[in-house]
Amino acid sequence: MKVRIIREECVSCGTCVDICPEFFELGKKDALSQVVERHRADGKLDEGTVPPELEEAVKDAADMCPVQVIHTE
Ligand code: SF4
Repeated sequence: MKVRIIREECVSCGTCVDICPEFFELGKKDALSQVVERHRADGKLDEGTVPPELEEAVKDAADMCPVQVIHTE
């Protein structure tokens, strides 16, 4: 499963990080949600590949995001 975060629309609520800290973190400088380094696609902050064991949690995070900026495919 792939994930894309529309970072510029993130409101930094921290919900995705609370639900799945193995995949999401808040940027140190801008406090916007981003993919943790080890799961990034081509080093991009806003795109990542989800390992099977984290799919459920990442989907939950996407569902719970108040501004629905976490997209999965
Ligand atoms: S749940 Fe959504 S709004 Fe909240 S930090 Fe994560 S991406 Fe940003």
